Amino acid sequence: MRLVVSAAAVFAISVPAAAQAPDFSKVQIKTEVVAPGVAVLFGAGGNIGLSYGEDGSVLIDDQFAPLTDKILAAVAGLGAKPVKYLVNTHWHFDHTGGNENLGKAGVTIFAHENVRVRMVSGATAGVAAVPPASPATLPVVTYQNGVSFHLNGDRIDAISTHGGHTDGDTALYWRKANVLHTGDLMMNGQGFPFVDTNSGGNVLHLIHTLDHLIKVTNPQTKVIPGHGPVGTQADLIAWREMIAGAVDQIRQRKAKGQTLDAVLPDNPLKPMEKAKAFISADAFVKAIWISLDATGPKPHKH
Ligand SMILES: [Zn+2]
Repeated sequence: MRLVVSAAAVFAISVPAAAQAPDFSKVQIKTEVVAPGVAVLFGAGGNIGLSYGEDGSVLIDDQFAPLTDKILAAVAGLGAKPVKYLVNTHWHFDHTGGNENLGKAGVTIFAHENVRVRMVSGATAGVAAVPPASPATLPVVTYQNGVSFHLNGDRIDAISTHGGHTDGDTALYWRKANVLHTGDLMMNGQGFPFVDTNSGGNVLHLIHTLDHLIKVTNPQTKVIPGHGPVGTQADLIAWREMIAGAVDQIRQRKAKGQTLDAVLPDNPLKPMEKAKAFISADAFVKAIWISLDATGPKPHKH
């Protein structure tokens, strides 16, 4: 139980604006079928994707440990078979909190290899330290450049291109159902993006990844974001344009020789800020600044 308690405590520290640590006993899991054999589950934490059908169920993310029973009940409520596979879109605890329960239940966990690296060592999510994960919590199958699932009459591509929210992001695209789950590469209607620079996130990589996801999708695609309601490719494009516009503003100021300390009081992104948003204009300016200064590998062209 110690893990559960610490994850909830960490959530309370690092997510002040979006929500306090929820009372999990009151959380209800709502399901929305977005295409035949594809559903999204809303509860507390990141939106859960589900592929279900004759070959079994694949879960995309798993929110928080105290919700696992309710999540599995919601899956069964759709008439779905038991969960065989789980994909973590990234390592944040509001997307991976159920890993230990599911791992112990025999579910095979997939993720980008950087997800496993951070979970093994423990790391910082936002501003809070997260302790090393137990063995059952860890992804068993890891990849660098994605993997594809051939089941339930569809092909689901787990796409890992450049990350951006972290350095271990995966988006999932159902080719036949024409559904995209973005993880936190997109937060629909939630204001600015969270670029977790402590976890290798970089806004330039994020824009590059979004460009790739826009290419993969089409105007009919249903887009399940990491947080917020199900959207469309138009929402994905608008999200990308908003981010790129903000980056351009900061880049221009930087090019004029302004320092971060000089830019912050001007609050250049304030007009774009959403009330009560998870990420403030200041926080996003800082994340952009760190991203522009980053010396790591630059996003490559396809
Ligand atoms: Zn996240």
